[in-house]
Amino acid sequence: MSDSDRIDQFRKMAEADPDNELGHFSLGKAYLDAGLTQPAIESFERVIQLNPNIAKVYQLLATALLKENRKDEAIGRLTRGVEIAAAKGDLMPKNEMVKMLKDLGQVVPESAAAVSEQAIGEGELLCSRCGKVRNKMPSQPFSSALGKLIFEKVCAGCWCEWIGMGTKVINELRLPLNDPKAQKIFDQQMTEFLNLR
Ligand SMILES: [Zn+2]
Repeated sequence: MSDSDRIDQFRKMAEADPDNELGHFSLGKAYLDAGLTQPAIESFERVIQLNPNIAKVYQLLATALLKENRKDEAIGRLTRGVEIAAAKGDLMPKNEMVKMLKDLGQVVPESAAAVSEQAIGEGELLCSRCGKVRNKMPSQPFSSALGKLIFEKVCAGCWCEWIGMGTKVINELRLPLNDPKAQKIFDQQMTEFLNLR
């Protein structure tokens, strides 16, 4: 799919369901990939308004801001992103944002950079989406490597949320799921929603 097809598709999704953070997130990424930084910034700002706790959005927003030479704003977003990622135990975006801050000549305080440790009991996990220690699903949602990853990383509550969201994604993107390309887009939306990217 070309960049402009992706932009069209996700723009429709964001317009059809304006409070759906996933549509704005995907649209922002499509804009950023196409080099359209100004609309990318607007989409990512909208995601943060809808859900301020997705660490990866701060990283993408800062990347777009830096392309527009808006360094101070990028530093502000990265600093906030590191705090959120640390609180959620979201290691990958945290390390990437710490590195971006260092490249910008910023000193990252160790306290902000430390990943919080939460006690995890039997049948529980630290959920990649909500960042909280919550109940696991009783079993894998489906049998594949992705199903196993979801079982190991996503809490039962967030999985239920995705089931509702997945129906919306199929309807809004008009995905024919017997088409492997559509299946790939669907899986990508799911991984993004569950914060498994
Ligand atoms: Zn969760």
